[in-house]
Amino acid sequence: MTGDAASSGSRANPATRASAEARPVIAVEERLSALTADQVATLFDRGRASDSAVEDAVRVILSDVKKRGDESLRALARRFDRVELTDVEVPRAARDEALATLAPEVRSALERAAANIAAFHRAQLPPPLEVETVPGVRLGRRAEPLRSVAVYAPGGRAAYPSSVLMGVVPARVAGVAEVIVCSPPGPDGRPPAAVLAACALAGADRVFAIGGAGAIAAVAYGTETVPRVDKVVGPGNAYVTEAKRQLNGILAIDCPAGPSEVLILADDAADPTILAAEVIAQAEHDPDAASVLVCTGAGVLDAARAELARLLPQQPRREIIEASLAARGAFLLADSLDEALELSNRYAPEHLLVLLRDPRGALARLRNAGSIFLGPGSSVAFGDYISGANHVLPTAGLARAYAGLSTMDYVRWATYQEVSPEAAASLSADTQVLATAEGLPGHALCAALRASADTETRGHGDTGTTWRPGASAERAVAGEAGFTDGASDARVAVSPRPRVPASASARNNVSAALPRRAAYRDIELYDPERTEIEIDLSDNTSLFGAPPAAMKALRQLDEAAVTRYPPVYAGRLKAALALLHGVAPENVVTGCGSDDVIDSALRAFCETGDVVAYPAPTFSMVPWFARMNATRPVAVPLGPDFELDDVALLEARGRVTYICNPNNPTGTVLSGERIRRVAREAAGVVLLDEAYADYAGVDLVAEAVASDRLVVLRTLSKAFGLAGLRVGYAIGPVALVREIEKSRGPYKVTAAADAAALAALAGDREWAAANVAVVKENRQRLAAELGAQGFRVWPSGANFLLVQTPEAGIPGSAAAFGRRLREQGISVRTFAGLPQAGDCIRVSVGPWPPMRRFLEAARALACGEEAAGDGKETR
Ligand code: PMP
Repeated sequence: MTGDAASSGSRANPATRASAEARPVIAVEERLSALTADQVATLFDRGRASDSAVEDAVRVILSDVKKRGDESLRALARRFDRVELTDVEVPRAARDEALATLAPEVRSALERAAANIAAFHRAQLPPPLEVETVPGVRLGRRAEPLRSVAVYAPGGRAAYPSSVLMGVVPARVAGVAEVIVCSPPGPDGRPPAAVLAACALAGADRVFAIGGAGAIAAVAYGTETVPRVDKVVGPGNAYVTEAKRQLNGILAIDCPAGPSEVLILADDAADPTILAAEVIAQAEHDPDAASVLVCTGAGVLDAARAELARLLPQQPRREIIEASLAARGAFLLADSLDEALELSNRYAPEHLLVLLRDPRGALARLRNAGSIFLGPGSSVAFGDYISGANHVLPTAGLARAYAGLSTMDYVRWATYQEVSPEAAASLSADTQVLATAEGLPGHALCAALRASADTETRGHGDTGTTWRPGASAERAVAGEAGFTDGASDARVAVSPRPRVPASASARNNVSAALPRRAAYRDIELYDPERTEIEIDLSDNTSLFGAPPAAMKALRQLDEAAVTRYPPVYAGRLKAALALLHGVAPENVVTGCGSDDVIDSALRAFCETGDVVAYPAPTFSMVPWFARMNATRPVAVPLGPDFELDDVALLEARGRVTYICNPNNPTGTVLSGERIRRVAREAAGVVLLDEAYADYAGVDLVAEAVASDRLVVLRTLSKAFGLAGLRVGYAIGPVALVREIEKSRGPYKVTAAADAAALAALAGDREWAAANVAVVKENRQRLAAELGAQGFRVWPSGANFLLVQTPEAGIPGSAAAFGRRLREQGISVRTFAGLPQAGDCIRVSVGPWPPMRRFLEAARALACGEEAAGDGKETR
C-alpha cells in the first residue's frame, strides 16, 4: 500500500504525518484487497528456500561425526566456533557455578519462568484411558515418557537461557529419564554462563559444548562422550534444521522452526504505540524475522507507522529491525474484519497477536497459529519468556499442520489390549475372514485357536478373572454369547468355570466397564490380612498402655460427641497443637493420622503424573499414596550409612518431595543441613515427616512456618500413644496448610478423637515424655544386646531398630525369620533385600519385658532353637 493510500481517510494528526518522513522501509504496504502477485509472494514465501549448499555441507558433517565422533566435534568447534575444545562435556560444577554467580534478579526471573512453564506443561499431561469397546475387549492408552531427549539451545552472537527452559522443563515434567543440552561453545570453550545457569536451574542431566549440525549428529549417532538420544528438540539455524531433517528417523525431531514471525490483527481501537513496539520486538530477532500488521483502521495503521518511526532510532538493534522490515515487514489495511481473519488463517503465523475489540470473539474463528495472544495485555514478549506457554513454535506457515513444543513432544502413546476368552471367541470368525482374504493363513490360525471360550485347556485358564465359559464360537458369532452350563453343548470343548480362589475372585471381580480410576487397577488393599498378636512390635505404636488423661476424657464423653457433628475443622485441637509447638493455629492442619495428611497433601499439590520424590528406603505408605493419587513415585536411594542424598533428591524435581526424619525403617537421623537444603531448593513442596522426632530431639517446625514450601508432619500415634484415634497433623506456611485443609474437607476428626487428643495435650505430656526417655534407654540396651548376639543393628533415633536377619543375603530370610517370631507370638515388620542391608526386620522399642521376650526369641532363632515357652505362645 502506498503512503497516500494508507492515509486516505486517516485520522492521524499533522505531527504524525510529519514524522512519516523518517519512516522505515516496509516490504509490503498495501490495502489487502489490492495485493499484487509479487507482494503476495513476498508475504507468503517466508522460510528459507531449501538450499543445496546447506544440504551438502550438512551431509558431510553428519557422516564425519558418525565416523570420527568426538574428534570430529573438536574439529567442527575449531572451524565454526574458533575454539579449541578442552572438554566436549561441560562439568556439573561449571553449571552450578554459573547458577550461583548469576545476577540474583535474572535468577529469580528465570525461576519464575521455569515455575510457570512447569505448571502449564504439567497440566498438559494426558491421563491414561481405558475403554471396553465391546464386552470383554479392553483397550487402553497411556503416555509413556521418552527415555532420553536432547535439547538444542542456539548460541552464536546471543545467549538464550529461555530456550533452555522451554526445552528442558517440559521434559522433566513429562518424566524423561535423561535430558541433555547441546549448545555451541563461546571463546572459553563453553556455552555462555546464562545458558549453563539455565541448564542447572531446569535440571538438565548433562550439557555439551557442541553446536550446529555436528551437535545434532552427535546426539543421533552417539560419540565417545555424547550419548545417543531418542529425540532432539529446540530451535537452531539453517544447518541445525537441515541436520534434523536428514536425521529424522534415526532419531525423532520436533516441529521445524525457522525465523520468528508475528501477525498482528488490529482494529481502530488498537493502541498504535503497542502495535509499533510489538513489530519492533519481532523484527529485532533476526533480519529474516517477519512482522505483519493487519489493521481494519487506516488511521491506526498510519499512527502505528509514525510510532515505529519515532521508536526506531532509540533501538540498539535498529539495523536488524530495519533489515527485517525491509525484507519481510508488512502493513496491511483490511476492508473488513472477515478479510483480516481470513488472511491470518492463510498466513498461519508463529505468533498471532489479537488487538481487536473482542479478542475472545475472534478466537473462535482463528485457526492455524502457533500461539495466539489475546488483547492488549498479552504481549508476545510474555510468551517468549514467562507466561509459561512454550515459545518453540512452528513458523513459515507450518502452523497449519504442526503444533509448538509441548509436553506431548516428550511422551509417546502406547496402547494395550486385553481380550477375554469369550470376546476372543466372538472376534474369531471375522478375523479369520479378513486374514484369509488378505492371504495370511497364520493370522487366521491364531484367530481360529480362540474360536472357543475354552482357554483353560491351553494352560492359562485360571487367570483370576471371572470370564464366563461355555459360549461356543458359533453361538458367539451369531450373537448368542452367554452364560451356559457348558456341559450340554456338545460341539465345543467346554471347560468348567475357572477355579478362582475366593479371595482372588473377590479382589478381581471388577467389570472393566466400572468407572474407576485407571491408577487403581494395580493397587491392592494395604495389608488386609493383618491380625492381632500378643506382642506387636511391627508398627512402632506405643507399648506403654493408653495415656491416662485421654482415657479419662473418652470415658466421660457426653452424648453430643456421639449425636452431633464434631467441630468442622477441629479448631480447638489445632489451637492446642499450635500452642504445643509455638505456632499459630492457621499453621496447623489435622488429619486422620498423618497418613491422611500425606494423602491429602499429594491430592492438594499434585496433578496426575507429577513426580513424588522420596528417599528409599522410607515409609512404605508414601509410594502407595503417590500411586493412589495417580502421581508418579520416584525413589531416590539413600547414600552410604542411609544418609540423605540431597543432590539426587533435588534432581528428581518432585512436585512433592517427601523426607522422613528420623527415617522409617532405617531409624537414621538425617543431616539437618541436607534436609534444609532440599527444603530451600526443591522444585515443589517438601513434606518432612517427623513422626518419630520426639525420640531424636529433631524439630524443623519453626523453619517450616517461616518457609514457603516446607510442611512438617507430626502424629499423636507414637509418643502420645493415640494411634487408635487417628490424629496426625501438619505444620507449615499458611498458604500450603490451607490447601491441605481444602483437600481433606470438613468433619474429619471425630468428636471422640477430638476430646481425647485435647485431654492428652493438656494432661499427658509428662506421661509421654517419660515414655520417650524409657524408649531411648531401652533402644540403646536392646541394640547392645542384639549386637552382642551377633546381629547387625543400625543406629536409630526412633522408637524402633532396624536389625539384619542372620541370613540377610538369602532371599526370603527376613520373611522366614518373621514367620518364626510370629509363631512365638511376636510380630515384627520384615523387609526383603534392603539396599545396603539385605533382609532385615524392624522392631518397635518399648518397655523392657516385651523387649526381653523378643531378645530371647531372636537369639533362639539365630541359634536354630525354638524359644522357651513357645507352646503356650504359639498362635
Ligand atoms: N509417618 C511415618 C514415618 C510412619 O512410620 C507412620 C506410621 N507408622 C506414619 C507417618 C503414620 O502415622 P499416623 O497415620 O498414625 O499418624
